[in-house]
Amino acid sequence: MYIKCWGSRGSIPVSGASYEKYGGDTTCIEIRTESDDLIIVDAGTGLRRLGNQLISEDRSVFNFIFTHSHWDHLMGFPFFKPLHKAESNVYMQRCPFPGRYIETIVTKLMRPPHFPVRYSDLKASIFYRNGCPGPFSIGSVDITPVSLSHPNGGCGYRFEENGRRFVFLTDNELGFTHEGGRSYREYVEFCEGADLLFHDGEFTPEEYACSVEWGHSSYMDALNLAIDAKVRRLGIFHLNQDRSDADMDRIIETCNEYAAARNVSLECFAVARDMAFQLSPDL
Ligand SMILES: [Zn+2]
Ligand SMILES: [Zn+2]
Repeated sequence: MYIKCWGSRGSIPVSGASYEKYGGDTTCIEIRTESDDLIIVDAGTGLRRLGNQLISEDRSVFNFIFTHSHWDHLMGFPFFKPLHKAESNVYMQRCPFPGRYIETIVTKLMRPPHFPVRYSDLKASIFYRNGCPGPFSIGSVDITPVSLSHPNGGCGYRFEENGRRFVFLTDNELGFTHEGGRSYREYVEFCEGADLLFHDGEFTPEEYACSVEWGHSSYMDALNLAIDAKVRRLGIFHLNQDRSDADMDRIIETCNEYAAARNVSLECFAVARDMAFQLSPDL
């Protein structure tokens, strides 16, 4: 399983000299399975660059999974160029909620006066497939959803292939249980033994004290979750829009010192734009 981040910024895209290392695009994750299926998780602004890459590779089959429908996870969708090509086949998993939820969200995104191109004018063939709330598979990857603790709900996902596990939990507040959310203990169980975990770490502990119920976690809560779940590598995700590269570097140093002081073999980093990972049985 190959995983690439096309955007890890939370809430709103940012640009400028302070954001060159970690990037300013909002959530978009690409997963390529061993069966060569392409999975795209969320359609934040990072999706625009991924679309350009996929066109250059002549790819025509795409599988989308959404964590939830907040703007920062959808705003790149109209700019995914394969949608405007007749040879494209786009499969949408019915996630994070079953029924016509995602179909309604996606069609609402592209309609005047909010956007000049209508969903009905897209040239690609778009299909909806059953996904959440139960486990499902795309090619050789097995996918298990878990409800997020976040305003308006949503899902995080565990991706498994050949005994390797990648868990993606963004927009998840570990310090407060929102409607439909799970307990801290349940999230630990869900992440147990992951080779790679991306978790929301939007706030510092000081900021979090003033932001309870906003739907995001402090990086310390994410770090303790990774330690309790015996995760091998933790990527802090949903980077705060005001957090500079230097701020992120200091946070990561603090996390790695905290883990080392507890004799935990955990590598912590902040997920940056264009970071890629290969999870194979021999790695
Ligand atoms: Zn978000
Ligand atoms: Zn959100």
